[in-house]
Amino acid sequence: MHIELTEMLRCPERHAEAFLVMSTGEMTGRMVRSGVLGCPVCAREYPIVKGVVYFTGSPVAPPRAAPRPATSVDPDTLQALLDLSGPGGYVVLLGSAARHAVGLAGLMDGIHFVGVNAPGDVEELPVLSLLRCEAVIPLRQAMARAVVVGRDRLDARWLAEAQRVLLPGRRLVVEDDRAAVPEGITRLALGQGLLVGERR
Ligand SMILES: [Zn+2]
Repeated sequence: MHIELTEMLRCPERHAEAFLVMSTGEMTGRMVRSGVLGCPVCAREYPIVKGVVYFTGSPVAPPRAAPRPATSVDPDTLQALLDLSGPGGYVVLLGSAARHAVGLAGLMDGIHFVGVNAPGDVEELPVLSLLRCEAVIPLRQAMARAVVVGRDRLDARWLAEAQRVLLPGRRLVVEDDRAAVPEGITRLALGQGLLVGERR
C-alpha cells in the first residue's frame, strides 16, 4: 500500500470516520510492504502483509484464479468514460475492475489506483494499492476521482459504497449495463455492457 493512502483509509467498523494510525515495518520505496494500521476509536488493528491491507479475513492471498479479461472495454475508452484527464488523486477499482489498473496507468501519470478485493492474480504495483475488506470499502467518503465497479461486486451494498467514496461531480463506471443506479448517482450513459454515472 502506498504510504500516502493512509490518510484516505477508514476503519470498517460502524463508528465515525477517524484517521488510522500506521506502524510501518518493511518499506519498498513509498510502498508499505508490512505493518499494522490501528484505529484510535475502536482499537482494532489491521495487518499489512506483502503490501496488502487486510481489514477483514485472514491475511492470506485469495486463490489465484485463472486470469480473465475484466471486460472488453479498452483503456482509452474507460479513461474517457471516467472523464480522467490530468494527474493527481485516487481512482478506486472494485473487485475484478482492479485488472484495469495497468491499462489506465499506462495512459496517465500521477494517478494512484486503489484495488479493493482484487482477484488473487492481481499484484500490487507502485501505482496500485490493494485493500481487502468484505464489509465496506475501507476508504473515507468523497475521496475518489473515479470509481470502476467490477462484475463480481454488483450488489446494491457495493454500489452504495462506490457512490459514498466518489467525489461530487465525478464519474462511476459499472461493468454491467443492467446494474441498478445507486442513489445519489445520475445515469449518463449505457452501452458496451457498461453503465456510466456521475455523483450528484
Ligand atoms: Zn475502528
